[in-house]
Amino acid sequence: MTHNPVQIKIQNQQLHITWDDNSQWHFPLQLLRDECPCAGCKGETILLRTFKPAEQPPKTAESYKIAGIQTVGGYAIQIDWKDGHNTGLYSWDYLLNLLKSTEEI
Ligand SMILES: [Zn+2]
Repeated sequence: MTHNPVQIKIQNQQLHITWDDNSQWHFPLQLLRDECPCAGCKGETILLRTFKPAEQPPKTAESYKIAGIQTVGGYAIQIDWKDGHNTGLYSWDYLLNLLKSTEEI
């Protein structure tokens, strides 16, 4: 994908990403947090061995609020959640798959 995001903002408990072709993606913050792709939340597969995610502290209201967002290397965003969790890298591909999964519901 060669798109570049021109605007990333949070509004009405949703993350809005506007692309340079004017298309827009919207994600409920709760979905983004529940689908956090980091190894701590999702586990990881290394050399064909799957490691289960570590036990995470219970989520609170702060877990679904965003303290900050950084773009990473032009291919992903890193979200800083207010409970201090910030290891999730949401690549554009990952977000696109998430978007498709919500549209199928
Ligand atoms: Zn995570």
